Amino acid sequence: MDKQSENNKDSLFNPVNPKASFPELEEEILKYWKEKKIFEKSVSQRSADKKWTFLDGPPFITGMPHYGTLLSSLPKDVYPRFKTMQGYQVRRVWGWDCHGLPAENKVENKLGLKSKREIEDKIGVKKFIDECKLYVSEVSTEWEWYVEHIARWVDFKNAYKTMDLPYMESVMWVFKQMYDKGYIYKGLRVSLYCPHCATPISNFEVAMDAENYKEIIDPGTIYKYQLRDEINTFILAWSTTPWNKIVTPALAVNPQLIYVKIKQGKEMYIVAKTTLKVINLDPEYVIIDEFLGKEMIGKKFVPHYDYYSIAKGEKSFEIIGGDFVTAEEGTGVVTIAAYGEEDLVAMKKENVHIEMHLDEEGNVKKDVPLFGGMYYLKANKYVEEDLEKRGLIYKTSDYSHKVPLCWRCHTRLYYAPQDAWYVDIQKLKPLLKKTNEKINWFPKHFKYGRFLKSLENAPDWNISRSRYWGSPVPVWECECGERFVPGSIAELENKTGVKINDLHKPEIDNVEVTCSKCSKKVKRVSEVLDSWIEAGSASFAERHFPFNKTEQLDDFFPPDFIAEYTGQIRAWFYVLHVIGAALYEKEAFKNVIVEGVILGTDGRKMSKNFGNYPDPREMLQKYGGDALRLYLLGSVVMRGEDIIISEEQYRNQVKSTLLTLWNIYNFFVTYANIDKWQPQNTRVKKFILDKWILSLLHKLIKEVTENLESYDTVNSIARIKDFISDLSTWYIRRSREYVGPSAADEEDKLAFYETCHEVIVTLCKIMAPITPFISEKIYRDLTSAESVHLASWPKADESLIDQALESEMESVRAVVEMGHAKRKIYGLKVRQPLSELIVSNSKFIIRNELYFLLTDELNVKKVRFIEGEGEMIVDFDLNITPELKAEGEARDIVRSIQEERKKLGTKVDEKVDVSISNWPQGFEEYIKKNAAVHELTKGDQLEVKKLSQ
Ligand SMILES: [Zn+2]
Ligand SMILES: [Zn+2]
Repeated sequence: MDKQSENNKDSLFNPVNPKASFPELEEEILKYWKEKKIFEKSVSQRSADKKWTFLDGPPFITGMPHYGTLLSSLPKDVYPRFKTMQGYQVRRVWGWDCHGLPAENKVENKLGLKSKREIEDKIGVKKFIDECKLYVSEVSTEWEWYVEHIARWVDFKNAYKTMDLPYMESVMWVFKQMYDKGYIYKGLRVSLYCPHCATPISNFEVAMDAENYKEIIDPGTIYKYQLRDEINTFILAWSTTPWNKIVTPALAVNPQLIYVKIKQGKEMYIVAKTTLKVINLDPEYVIIDEFLGKEMIGKKFVPHYDYYSIAKGEKSFEIIGGDFVTAEEGTGVVTIAAYGEEDLVAMKKENVHIEMHLDEEGNVKKDVPLFGGMYYLKANKYVEEDLEKRGLIYKTSDYSHKVPLCWRCHTRLYYAPQDAWYVDIQKLKPLLKKTNEKINWFPKHFKYGRFLKSLENAPDWNISRSRYWGSPVPVWECECGERFVPGSIAELENKTGVKINDLHKPEIDNVEVTCSKCSKKVKRVSEVLDSWIEAGSASFAERHFPFNKTEQLDDFFPPDFIAEYTGQIRAWFYVLHVIGAALYEKEAFKNVIVEGVILGTDGRKMSKNFGNYPDPREMLQKYGGDALRLYLLGSVVMRGEDIIISEEQYRNQVKSTLLTLWNIYNFFVTYANIDKWQPQNTRVKKFILDKWILSLLHKLIKEVTENLESYDTVNSIARIKDFISDLSTWYIRRSREYVGPSAADEEDKLAFYETCHEVIVTLCKIMAPITPFISEKIYRDLTSAESVHLASWPKADESLIDQALESEMESVRAVVEMGHAKRKIYGLKVRQPLSELIVSNSKFIIRNELYFLLTDELNVKKVRFIEGEGEMIVDFDLNITPELKAEGEARDIVRSIQEERKKLGTKVDEKVDVSISNWPQGFEEYIKKNAAVHELTKGDQLEVKKLSQ
């Protein structure tokens, strides 16, 4: 006999604590799940032949959990639970993201390193990598607490790390597949660049967060470039980067745009016609010529600086044509330099001399006259002064714009040409669009909205980082041009004869291969891979595919489900999609939920500095995990919209839903135990209220199943909340008099217990994926089964859905509501019986079986319907006969006794002795029955005593 049944020999169900604390209850259940290994069983008890695959996006290993990470954990738990109940086996293994700049920056700070160069010069790569390994070994223990307390089931013990050798080997294999298919190339391209981290930064990493942009005021200057062959004639070009004017080997105009030459004072200027507003009004100018941009192409101009040498055949100091030049801002003339994305493309196309005048830390190179050694932003001022002095500035004014910052170290970024490794996104684009067609997005609008747009605009993806802590770019490139790109450790070992134990720098850099063409010794290229390649390879790498032969590709790819917030549309979703398409021409995931962002109480991003959000741990300890799940899974944040965190809404879930459910459960158990009811196999004839709630229940099963299957938790929760409200405020409320000691009809009573038990048990199953704790508690106590999470998902029985009954019940409730309102107007309490309810102009039919609900609820002897035209009116016969008055008094007395009983804390079926000054004649039995009175005697005033006293 277990402890519970020992304590409650007399009652079938464990008594319910009406003042339950949900967080305490959740602790008990967490303990139970661990002891009985319920999560493990929920996986192992399902057939491996029927799998549903879920792919997790690994968080950064030393990061701290916050509302955002908790939020994405919720659908990652709901759907695996739901699918498990539907009979699928759902593997869930935790993963950690380990590589990349976050770790490197932390280690730099710890070691007091001020720049990238100091890593190599001061402490060496070996020590730096060892420190990185040490840093990421300090796994934050916070995660496990949070993940448990939001009831997320996931295998923590077997968590994979992106720095593990098997994971890195799969990443190497992914690179090789893409390389062999021609999707990876090496080339000079412009990308965002952080001079502090001395590495390119992915544009999507920056775009993930609005905090990565800062409003800055730069000089907006119109520079004068004198045409070589036209005296006193200057072409005007506008720019906000004075440092970049040190090298301007070309100017670009739009061939199709109309330009004008004007005369102002002694000089002539050329600008696009539509930009004439930039010209000073004083002195007055006159237009002396008008022509298309293409007429200027090939003309030479005098450079502001020309310290660098031009190779033979290269163009320099020449006007070129470019479609990208517009007249929206500036003068319709663009200064061309290597530090601009479109510039570099145009320069390569036109064979313009490319000069890079900044070093990798953002300083003007030492050999540059006047400005050598200056940080590029510092050079701005000196360039402006120099050109001003030389009369080469037409005018200058402040220009305010948003500039990108490094997401890691917050240094201002600039665009810089990089000789780097790229994924050829342009080549992949048609395929990326095609495979997107197959993905089921929730909400739908992201499919052709933000995701497709970001695909269409995506530049080639720079996947190499001039850093240290990451997977190596697996390329050994010989001077002769020959490359060796291994796809496995074995391949590398065979080629080198060296045993490979670690793919990290510096070990991997010591591995040399012999060039198969010229027999020279060849070192690996120095870069590491962008850690997004690792995140995008998760499907394969977390299973060590294709090296681990126990799983076939079809078993896990494409995964059925992934979920993350909107910021990942351009990031994780995108890189998964690119790699899935490049490797297998397939969509990288079948279904995806996109969540919004939870903002602080002031509508800004949550930040410790702003103190604009309640501590999540405190909240979980106060209101529990179920309430958080109801709050967030039921909110529009699950539809990709941003919400403002609200403790009040979180708290309300407890009061409005969890406590209501708990009270229903408490009511059922209390009376079932009094009446000694227990579940039986025979089915009794259902009473009309039972038929009604069963109809609602089966409709609920149908609707929640449909909603969950289309990844809509918001509607699922709304339906569940409506049902709990109907169950509480109508079914239980109207059933009260059919149970307990005062119940009259044995058959109705049995019908109630049977129905109510079935309804609550089924409701627990439906709620189990959403509120796993309370569902488990109630389900186990009502069924003594091991766990609701091992149960099967309920099936709707369509034959029990009675739409006619549901709409008639709605009409009854509408009449009741109007009747109560009318009583309030008359100042007549419900306890005073009235002879008749009159309903005029009702447009509906109510079956006879439902009339009693009107008479009982509105306390009238009969109901009369008068059909007519016009709006429905509900009224009462207000004549209170002496008999009605006496009955009203008797009800008052019952109510007073009940209040006293409550004060004494008597049980529902515990009898009491009552003395009272008087009671209406003929109501003695009525009072005794309805207030559980043993002896009713006359006394001075109302006195209620327990029998033992
Ligand atoms: Zn940085
Ligand atoms: Zn060679």
